[in-house]
Amino acid sequence: MPQLPGLMKGLGVTFKTMLAGAVTVQYPHVKEAPPTRARGVIALKEENCTVCMLCARECPDWCIYIEGHADLAPPRREGGKPRRAPKLDRFDIDYSLCMYCGICVEVCPFDALFWSPEYEYSEPRIADLLHDKERLGEWMETVPEPPPLEAGADVKKKK
Ligand code: SF4
Ligand code: SF4
Repeated sequence: MPQLPGLMKGLGVTFKTMLAGAVTVQYPHVKEAPPTRARGVIALKEENCTVCMLCARECPDWCIYIEGHADLAPPRREGGKPRRAPKLDRFDIDYSLCMYCGICVEVCPFDALFWSPEYEYSEPRIADLLHDKERLGEWMETVPEPPPLEAGADVKKKK
């Protein structure tokens, strides 16, 4: 019986796994706290968004929809030309398409997008997974504080 040691070893693993207990929890009766930096939902800080469209262009799933316009704002200095001030009209993320890759958060040059660990936003209707800018803005309250900078990382203070 040359297969016997392998068979015993396999049965050993089976019994060990059977007795180890479940690694899952009975959600929603039991809720696990996700890690602080978990990718739950994306939050939008609207005042930081310049309508540059970079996030929408880089999103591999094409699930960010942005519309905006530019208002004329007074010049910064006396005698200067009026400025073009971008205004966000629409910013939607369709979470039925999003694959949580985080590219939009990474590429935003103006710190307007953040990960929140919040995950309880399932919907009975798939169309309701489209979050508009008001809803994305509400998620900002659930975004954790960023971790402190590593020693020597704050180059501005060094100068
Ligand atoms: S996380 Fe990825 S898929 Fe989701 S909106 Fe951002 S870029 Fe698109
Ligand atoms: S969220 Fe960031 S990358 Fe996207 S349009 Fe606004 S400023 Fe640009």
